Amino acid sequence: MSLLSERILNMATSATLAMAAKARELRGEGKDIIGLSLGEPDFNTPDFIKEEAIKAINEDYNSYTPVDGYVELKEAVITKFKRDNNLTYTLPQIVVSTGAKQALANIAAVMLNKGDEVILPCPYWVSYADIVKLNDGVPVEVKTSIDTDFKMTPEQLEAAITPNTKMMWFSSPCNPSGSVYSKAELRGLADVLAKYPNIYVVSDEIYEHINYVGGHASIAEFDDMYDRTITVNGVSKAFAMTGWRIGYIGGPEKIARACNKMQGQITSGANCIAQRAVITALNESPSRVQYMIDEFKVRRDLILGLLNDVEGFKSNTPEGAFYVFPNVSYYFGKTLRGKTINNATDFSLYLLEEALVATVTGEAFGNPDCIRISYAASQEQIIEAIKRIKEAVS
Ligand code: PLP
Repeated sequence: MSLLSERILNMATSATLAMAAKARELRGEGKDIIGLSLGEPDFNTPDFIKEEAIKAINEDYNSYTPVDGYVELKEAVITKFKRDNNLTYTLPQIVVSTGAKQALANIAAVMLNKGDEVILPCPYWVSYADIVKLNDGVPVEVKTSIDTDFKMTPEQLEAAITPNTKMMWFSSPCNPSGSVYSKAELRGLADVLAKYPNIYVVSDEIYEHINYVGGHASIAEFDDMYDRTITVNGVSKAFAMTGWRIGYIGGPEKIARACNKMQGQITSGANCIAQRAVITALNESPSRVQYMIDEFKVRRDLILGLLNDVEGFKSNTPEGAFYVFPNVSYYFGKTLRGKTINNATDFSLYLLEEALVATVTGEAFGNPDCIRISYAASQEQIIEAIKRIKEAVS
């Protein structure tokens, strides 16, 4: 009998975390690594949120919270969904979790049975496929390309549907491509789904506020999609609160209740101090964090301009999130400084070892032609990183 379960043995290690660990190791050896691999704002949590956490500690918030979150927080989530997304939810439709990641894991655990297929437009966020597999689901990757701005078309969606299709999961703005689905594009997908009323959608909107084109659209806004969409969101990205670990869902009551039940056996409620702070974050206007979005936009333009000048990098123009996802297949089959590059993983490792810049292979996101570069770093770091990359590939 093996020590570890097949479940864990079959699971991939998160590529983003693995790259960060490798970068840390090289830093430990004294190498000056520029880390552009992690999906983490380089800002501090805003003071108006931190102050609420300090207040909560002083007011002795230290007990277990309701499993699905404090009522005041769930009310703030309801306010946020109404204000920002025109979505109306009631308290039993909301579950607060330990990050959007746990929210996604809950959904998979309560909805998937063995062999259920989950459509994932590629590139997709690194953990979707493994969360689905962990829960006996089957990820069905739908390949997109730079020509459609890495967005799935209605025809592609239709072609991927089988009698086993249970769900479709996607993020908009997308990690890693930065693509943002317009309302019309979402309607196109919804029109296909209208023919298949048993298919549910997970709409991961964690980058909602990091949007450079304005007009974030939620697929649940369509009346015919509301009852079959679970909208996932959280504070990690827009509020620079990755370590606070608060995410949430709004969705059909039956699914929310099931997530609550699952969470009750696995983790109980999310951290009490973080929950108190997030009440304020969500009740305040998103304009309070606009300064970060403005800076991300400057960096996006900066990195796109710099990459334009690097041979063999072909990028779309990301409309949200804080990543570029250039196609680097130009280098496949070539030898650089004696190292043969066969795929995006080789290329990403090459950049780490030779340019001392940490990126993530697109393979982890279901697209083996690209690498993901995060621009959640200072302008100086971005300029230096792309300079090093340019030198390493020339
Ligand atoms: N969804 C997407 C698309 C993400 O990029 C991330 C984090 O990188 C998450 C969910 C998880 O966020 P959280 O920190 O709330 O668990």
